[in-house]
Amino acid sequence: MFRKGRLLIDGQWADATTGDRFETVNPATGEVIGEVAHAGTTDVDAAVAAAGRAFESAAWSGMMPSERGRLLWRLADLVEQHALELAEIETRDNGMPVGLNQQFVLPNVIDVLRYYAGWATKITGVSSPVSIPGFAHHTRREPLGVCALITPWNTPLMILAWKLAPALATGNTVVIKPAEQTPLSTLRLAELATEAGFPPGVINALTGDGATGAALVRHPGVAKVSFTGSTEVGKEIVRASADHLTRVSLELGGKAPSIITPDADIDAAVEGNLIGALFHSGQICAQYARMYVHTSRLDEFTTKIAGAASAMVLGNGMDLAAQLGPVVSAEQLERVTRYIGLGVGQGATLLTGGERAVDGDLAHGFFLRPAVFTGVTDSMTIATEEIFGPVLSILSYEDEDDVVSRANDTPYGLVASVWTRDVGRANRLAQRLKAGAIYINSLPLQDPAAPWGGIKASGIGREMGWEAIEAYTEVKGIWTPLT
Ligand code: ADP
Repeated sequence: MFRKGRLLIDGQWADATTGDRFETVNPATGEVIGEVAHAGTTDVDAAVAAAGRAFESAAWSGMMPSERGRLLWRLADLVEQHALELAEIETRDNGMPVGLNQQFVLPNVIDVLRYYAGWATKITGVSSPVSIPGFAHHTRREPLGVCALITPWNTPLMILAWKLAPALATGNTVVIKPAEQTPLSTLRLAELATEAGFPPGVINALTGDGATGAALVRHPGVAKVSFTGSTEVGKEIVRASADHLTRVSLELGGKAPSIITPDADIDAAVEGNLIGALFHSGQICAQYARMYVHTSRLDEFTTKIAGAASAMVLGNGMDLAAQLGPVVSAEQLERVTRYIGLGVGQGATLLTGGERAVDGDLAHGFFLRPAVFTGVTDSMTIATEEIFGPVLSILSYEDEDDVVSRANDTPYGLVASVWTRDVGRANRLAQRLKAGAIYINSLPLQDPAAPWGGIKASGIGREMGWEAIEAYTEVKGIWTPLT
């Protein structure tokens, strides 16, 4: 597979004005699998202008909500028809085992598109009970305009769907900017959207790097930026948004605590935390990154999870036997390896893994054996900073109040997890933990109806659910005299 990608601007595929291109690499093999256009500021200007014209056009602004819903549904059908192809493109670009892309990512993308296809005809306002005599008042939710959708490399299609579907359902137009490490699936989705029949300019796609994203964020024609990525870049986006008071939604980093209580079903906790920590080689912001295990269950949990982690099969994501793919890039391999070194250096015990896997074909890719640390304390770097790699850290605790304050003592607040058989304890902890989503005895699941996002340094706003409809609309109040 080798793909060439161009920019989608105003319904036309074009090279970057500068002619610049960049390569994308399969992290399992180190092979170059595609070359795409590198959009510069002129291309950003053209894409935003096209999206602005499309937003005002009768073809889009005059389109009935039911027709917008039909277009989204048609796109979902096309994604379903091409699900295997899309899963394979994604796996070759970001390394995730293709079975996970097929069973988890693509079904979610299709569900999200259909869920918002349904919302298109249900975006209601309210009749407001104003007290001023002789007036009626009602509200309308109106689209914002041009939305810049900037996505990361870990699950590019899924995160794109979370933004694209509600943005279009509410009548906005978009400029999409995938991450430079993983541009290919987004370009294929943009092709399918064109085939679905969205009018030219409604969906524009620019491949490029952080500079391309920054030009988009600064552009006065962009009404809203929806960004998923690092907390550092999220802060830059907030600063850049000040000039034009651009609306922003941010889904940023995490350092999720997972509390394994004395009465937990340990086998279920081991299985859930293993996947919670190592799904997609730990490259998800919801990763269960700090496991707080009650001292009475510490040995049992630690032995079982370390055994299970060391038995996981590493491999090229296209190989159906692979349970863990590579990390996304040479840079990420180096970064995660540095964190593992810090863990050891700061006194945590590395029970298993942590080294680069170089047997056979793995030597060409960026494979890391999952690292399991025990004896981790709260102040160690591996317990405080987001690693985004296959690193599992076990901490211990004695007292519930103490573990709640330690779990909450982080700048992040995306996800927290609780493992217990006691329903009272489960709900008590769920109330006390500070995060956007709490998972009781479960994996960090995603569903289009469940709002998703974080507090504190994990972001601003929520994706999915009705909350995403609010995030892509403004409320207008309309006064009507009754005389
Ligand atoms: P990660 O650390 O996961 O690589 P980043 O936050 O660096 O995530 O990148 C996420 C997305 O944001 C990518 O599409 C990237 O190109 C884009 N990006 C990087 N820097 C900026 C910036 N200053 N402004 C807007 N987008 C950016």
